[in-house]
Amino acid sequence: MNIDFAEISDIDLWGQFAQEFLCNLGFQVEAPLRRFPEDGYDFCVSEQVSGKFGVTSFRWLVSCRHKASTRLAVKESDEVDVLERVLHNGVDGFIGFYSTSAAQALVTHLDSLKSNGNIKEHKILDAKFIEGHLTTPGFDLIAARFFPNFALGRQSIHIYQDKYLPIQCEHCQKDLLATLYTDDNQGVIVRLRQRKIDRDVPDNITMVYCACKGECDEQLQTKYCQNSNQSTASWASISDLVIPSSFLERIILLINQIGRDGIIYEQEALQKEIYLFRALAQRTLRPAVAGELIRTKKMLIGNE
Ligand SMILES: [Zn+2]
Repeated sequence: MNIDFAEISDIDLWGQFAQEFLCNLGFQVEAPLRRFPEDGYDFCVSEQVSGKFGVTSFRWLVSCRHKASTRLAVKESDEVDVLERVLHNGVDGFIGFYSTSAAQALVTHLDSLKSNGNIKEHKILDAKFIEGHLTTPGFDLIAARFFPNFALGRQSIHIYQDKYLPIQCEHCQKDLLATLYTDDNQGVIVRLRQRKIDRDVPDNITMVYCACKGECDEQLQTKYCQNSNQSTASWASISDLVIPSSFLERIILLINQIGRDGIIYEQEALQKEIYLFRALAQRTLRPAVAGELIRTKKMLIGNE
């Protein structure tokens, strides 16, 4: 786990976090939260479900339990009177929103409520599920607000253009930017140049590609360099390039290489570099506030 859920100090905040998280997932949140003496919160959400005869509303009871400080799973005894709470709220399904996990006995109990027709469905959103979403595009503001220590060291993705810009491995298509902190096999950005005969001649960059380190990169090296006049000019790890100072140094290096050292870029390779700077900026720069975004768009008009 990369996120320490104990960063959220109490159940009140955990309840607020649950509401904002589910709202971000696309659920309609019905306020207010209902506090329970056994240290939990309930609230209801709804979603529109498409069926053969049109769209219907499906309502869920969301039960928040926050046991991150003890790291203990939520037990059946922690979820008192589930059936009564479901009936009282007249909902179709039950969601457990937990900062740890659910004990098997609790899941078995929920299964029995489903098989008896008391609920149509149940779902446990545990720490693993929640963390998986917090590191994806569009959840950066929530992550920064509720988990400042996590956000400080590991910048979340924020979308500053009209849509998210992925950095895909050109061999297996994995999004190397989105999986940067959740997947061990990280990515590299590779520049290829025209094979040189004279060492003193500046590089002619013919291609820029992204790949997973190791096998994907090796496959692409073979594809692009074997039986061609291309060779590798440089490798850079994406994990290094999202460090703000190193991101800036790469931009300066590129300007110097083109302006001072006479490196030539094929148009397509240069466009790729520009795209990658924009994509990396989604993890590297701080999110712009609304007024700043409008100002940036105005400045960019005519510069493309
Ligand atoms: Zn790959």
